[in-house]
Amino acid sequence: MVRDVKRKPSELLRFLIAVVLVLGIGAIVVLRVTTHGPARPAAAIAPAAPPPPLPAPSTEACGTDGWRDAAAANDRSLNSLVWSPFGRAETGWATYAPLIGREAGTRCGPATAGFAAAYARWQAAHKLDPDGIVKESDFATMRNAMALRRPFVQQTAQGLCPAAPADTALAAAAPAESYGGKPIQLRESALTAYRRLVAAARAEGVAHGEVLKLVSGYRSPAEEAQRCSGGGCNTLTRAHCSAHRTGLAMDLYLDHPAGQDPTSTDDANRAAMARTPAYRWLVVHAGDYGFLPYPFEPWHWEWTGEPP
Ligand SMILES: [Zn+2]
Repeated sequence: MVRDVKRKPSELLRFLIAVVLVLGIGAIVVLRVTTHGPARPAAAIAPAAPPPPLPAPSTEACGTDGWRDAAAANDRSLNSLVWSPFGRAETGWATYAPLIGREAGTRCGPATAGFAAAYARWQAAHKLDPDGIVKESDFATMRNAMALRRPFVQQTAQGLCPAAPADTALAAAAPAESYGGKPIQLRESALTAYRRLVAAARAEGVAHGEVLKLVSGYRSPAEEAQRCSGGGCNTLTRAHCSAHRTGLAMDLYLDHPAGQDPTSTDDANRAAMARTPAYRWLVVHAGDYGFLPYPFEPWHWEWTGEPP
């Protein structure tokens, strides 16, 4: 009886440990399966090659003779293509046109022959039918390349969630640097990189007033868990393991339609942001300062100068 009493707690303990292990492994598997946002490409983990360098603005011909039919097709579909580039139905590809042009290595507008010619070169380089016409079936290739350049995605694609940095690695942005004066922290090196980026944008006249101020920076795992406590995480727009926990991701203020939140994933909001000079400048120049975009959210940028 005495032995029984002694053995039972130990068996119970072992049973509980086994249950915790099984649940833990199960949770990891479920997390990997259900975290299916755009930041989740297929199995490949290797970082994708950078996009081709852009030609000098003065040398690129956008109205070349060829590719007029493809340009006309792109012009028609720019605001009418019915597709689901990130698993959610959308109309038109204007929101992604700046990034698609950047990936294709062109500064030409999306309805030009020069854009179609550059897009055809990108298609050929990726073994796709080089017809110069933007289409849903091509987009997964482009989307995955953009995702797999992000060190954060290289980790989450393996089912890993980066640990948060130590408090001592974080630095506070000045109130004048944040939208509405909200207290925002970033990893110190990322904040320094952000300041360089904004200084360059200001020098080029695309950042003024609130534009490019920080809307969001570091979010602790506890804050992440709280955001998820009401459900709705591991969807397209919200994750249990968000890049913001690294202290390297930041949401930047871009002009947005009245009545919208500066980080609203409403299609009209994202489309309006993609039209802003600041966003177009970021698409072309942010990489020079070590920043990579998250195509679904024009405001979200990740600094890549340190591992997540
Ligand atoms: Zn963000």
